[in-house]
Amino acid sequence: MPPTTPDAADPDLGRRIASLRPPKNAVDPRRPHAFFVEPERSEEGAVEDTATVFLVNRECPFKCLMCDLWRNTTDHRVPDGAIVAQVEYALSRLPAAPHIKLYNAGNFFDVQAIPPGDLPRVAELLAPFRTAVVECHPKLIGPRCLEFRDRLRPALRVAMGLETVHPEVLRRLNKGMTPDDFERAAGFLRRNGVGIRAFLLLRPPYLDEAEGVEWAKGSLRYAFDVGVECCVVIPTRDGNGVMEQLRAEGSWAPPRIESLEEVLQYGIGLRRGRVFADLWDIEKLFHCPRCGPARARRLDAMNREQTVAPPVVCDCGGGV
Ligand code: SF4
Ligand SMILES: [Zn+2]
Repeated sequence: MPPTTPDAADPDLGRRIASLRPPKNAVDPRRPHAFFVEPERSEEGAVEDTATVFLVNRECPFKCLMCDLWRNTTDHRVPDGAIVAQVEYALSRLPAAPHIKLYNAGNFFDVQAIPPGDLPRVAELLAPFRTAVVECHPKLIGPRCLEFRDRLRPALRVAMGLETVHPEVLRRLNKGMTPDDFERAAGFLRRNGVGIRAFLLLRPPYLDEAEGVEWAKGSLRYAFDVGVECCVVIPTRDGNGVMEQLRAEGSWAPPRIESLEEVLQYGIGLRRGRVFADLWDIEKLFHCPRCGPARARRLDAMNREQTVAPPVVCDCGGGV
């Protein structure tokens, strides 16, 4: 890999990552590509309905090694009014809920992603909610975030990818960010009354299983140290082209579901904030037909209850 400054994304690596991608899905800029309501443990400790709307917008300009969020994005900026139309479309079809996440597969405060002229109406549409979560790269956190906060009736929360605090692995993920960048953004948000959710990777490339677990635990501690309130642990997965190549080279393998259980129970045990395991596509981590589904149910129960559930016992040899 060519040398880079520690916090600069590498354009050559970005081009290689992009060149290995399978095609994007067809999307309509006036329709969200998915939306649903599901229960989630709230900051106050209740399990409450949370609406999630996946907005279609221009692809994130970063090119992270593990990212597959570009699949449902456009190549160009969506027209003015498109984001408003998507939010209206989803909200008119979803049951009422106290919380909402507007996830845009990138950076909510990137003017090329969410046209700024749409924000006042989006803020009006969010008035019935108590909290609203949007996502953004730490380097794009700034005054635009506060302008949006000031328009909103719900409390604003921002989700940011910390990924890992392993400095060399974070650099090689090509996120164009150091842990210090994350800490700066987190400090800015906290000083301005905006809560923070962090996305953390379980077993990014270049780490073996045990290292993946230890660095996920260390990343959880770091996130809470810098003021994060909620951490979401995401098991790395293939599907974006470059991850398949890294696997073939021996530089990456998917984590074991038992490792996700271990990291989740460790994070909950810290009692410093909410910790969730991302269960999207969890079936891909099943290695035993007997205990795989039981482990997924255990993870789901721990997500909701934020307590450590009894371990799953199985004669396949898995277990924590
Ligand atoms: S910053 Fe987030 S959305 Fe953008 S490429 Fe990286 S992981 Fe994907
Ligand atoms: Zn088993």
